[in-house]
Amino acid sequence: MDCTNQCLSDRVSALAVSATLAMSQKSQELRAQGVDVINLSVGEPDFNTPDHIKQAAVRAIDQNYTFYSPVPGYMSLREAIAAKLLRENGLTYSPQQIVVGNGAKQALCNVILSLINPGDEVLIPVPAWVSYVEMVKLAQGTPVTVHAGIEDNFKITPERLRRAITPRTRMVLICSPSNPTGSVYTRQELQGLVSVLADYPGIMVVADEIYEHINFTGSFTSLASFPEIADRTVIINGVSKAYAMTGWRIGYCAAPLWLAKGVSKLQGQYTSGASSIAQKAAEAAYNGPQECVQEMCRAFQRRRDLVVSLASQIPGLTVNRPDGAFYLFPQVTAYIGRKTPDGQTLQTSADIAMYILRQAHVAVVDGAAFCAPGYIRLSYATSDDNITRAMHRIADALAGLS
Ligand code: PMP
Ligand code: GLU
Repeated sequence: MDCTNQCLSDRVSALAVSATLAMSQKSQELRAQGVDVINLSVGEPDFNTPDHIKQAAVRAIDQNYTFYSPVPGYMSLREAIAAKLLRENGLTYSPQQIVVGNGAKQALCNVILSLINPGDEVLIPVPAWVSYVEMVKLAQGTPVTVHAGIEDNFKITPERLRRAITPRTRMVLICSPSNPTGSVYTRQELQGLVSVLADYPGIMVVADEIYEHINFTGSFTSLASFPEIADRTVIINGVSKAYAMTGWRIGYCAAPLWLAKGVSKLQGQYTSGASSIAQKAAEAAYNGPQECVQEMCRAFQRRRDLVVSLASQIPGLTVNRPDGAFYLFPQVTAYIGRKTPDGQTLQTSADIAMYILRQAHVAVVDGAAFCAPGYIRLSYATSDDNITRAMHRIADALAGLS
């Protein structure tokens, strides 16, 4: 082998680039060239981190929280997370069951790498966030998708879940509120899924609850609150979305003790504890006033109403009304086969997303990145003005197809 040429491992060669981050990068590049791009691609709150949280980080620096932290995170932060789980979710966890990582992304990847052996199957209801399938591949597991379309409000049924289970199924990954669809499972719907999982004690349940607080239904049920599966459920959560802290990179898993220990061993070898300063900020987020969370949620709900009303007026877009997160996931199959003004035929939702970027200067993400070709994802975590301008531009661009 000649390593002056390409000699990436098979593991990394087989990975897809994160489409959400790639599209966002593309839109930033266009903007740097002077193009007025409206970025509805990456999903992150557009709010600044609340001041009391920023102040805690400044204090942490002044107080010299600048050394390595314990691998699973400062005890004070893990206590704050345990208190949050009790206060908001009625769940009892010891700090030892919590491992803080560099964002919910690492927390999730830690859990997958700690549980999955080559060939183990992981059930992923789709549409699903871009990284689930890739993380499972990284662990040499086999992702098995379970489909739900817009006609199902993007929620799988107990029957579909049961049909996908095989003797090799080791894990199911459930995200509610969902990225990329914004769908939220009700307690009753979760109970339906749990009743199936109760029959399969060999399946670990991973609940990605990162959008817990961006939920317009007024109620949230954690999967860990069902006694049938509580001892094999892992919660993934963090501060990125609820507290507008995406850049701080703090997330966690709350898991059975044996798994938390495994996750901590893994993290100890490849990243150590997360940023000491960001951990102190996260602690302030959990222990401090929570009004900021509700305020941001109200803003997202208002924007949801705006984006749904504008998108519903675009002929050919099939739109539902998401109950949480900050994404709209319209079906765009009506435009497949149509011709652009310069004579190209749109053959896939990827072509449509690229056409919208080129023609409307609005960055959106192709649904195929979420295992759902035929859709596009719009993140409406931006100002009302941007949402309105973006939707008018998209409407004009789509109206220009023949
Ligand atoms: N899960 C889902 C469903 C997400 O959308 C995100 C954000 N990209 C994450 C996990 C990771 O969040 P974090 O920024 O905390 O790593
Ligand atoms: N949650 C965001 C998204 O889906 C962040 C980008 C990422 O990590 O994928 O766009």
